Amino acid sequence: MRELSIVEIRFMDHLKKRGCPVCSASDEAVRLFFESLFYENVNDVGVRKRFESDSGFCAFHTRIAEKFSDPSGTAILYASLLVKTDDDAGGHAGKCRCCEVRDEAVGRAVTSVGKFLENGSLFANLGKNLLFCRRHFSMLSRKLEGKNLKLMEKFQDEKLKEIHKLLNDVLKRIDYTSKTKDFTDDEMFALFSAPKYFSTFEELNR
Ligand SMILES: [Zn+2]
Ligand SMILES: [Zn+2]
Repeated sequence: MRELSIVEIRFMDHLKKRGCPVCSASDEAVRLFFESLFYENVNDVGVRKRFESDSGFCAFHTRIAEKFSDPSGTAILYASLLVKTDDDAGGHAGKCRCCEVRDEAVGRAVTSVGKFLENGSLFANLGKNLLFCRRHFSMLSRKLEGKNLKLMEKFQDEKLKEIHKLLNDVLKRIDYTSKTKDFTDDEMFALFSAPKYFSTFEELNR
């Protein structure tokens, strides 16, 4: 069997997490991007030039950035942007750098799933609480064919049925006083995964 690359070994961790492993890998890449941006990269000339030529971040990533930013980083980044004269008064000059970071991470993750499927190691490494979100499953499906596509469709279909059943179990005994602790780990997985399965954020980028 071919040796795994560093990217594939790192991606293995995401297969054990709750929810979509591609979302998990992409969220991690975005978190690391913002952590290093506000920790030291706001002082990097190249990073700031790119930020200026993009005219900042898209709406979605501007909201995410609020979780990581600090007054000095925000002032450094945006003071120069405000005096920029070549802005087209709205919209972005280029693709938001963070959208790029996210898309690159998604591409690597989807490719890794394909490699694990090909070498037959995927299902042995999947955590119990894994469900691909709709967006990333459709991306993955487009890259697969034949037996591997069928295997993934069967896996995802069974997971969705399991989540449907778990949500119905929740409904049978829920009332307005119900708390998180009243549900089993499996039911919490269903309550966590169903909204994530349907979620999308493209509209925030427009
Ligand atoms: Zn996803
Ligand atoms: Zn963005």
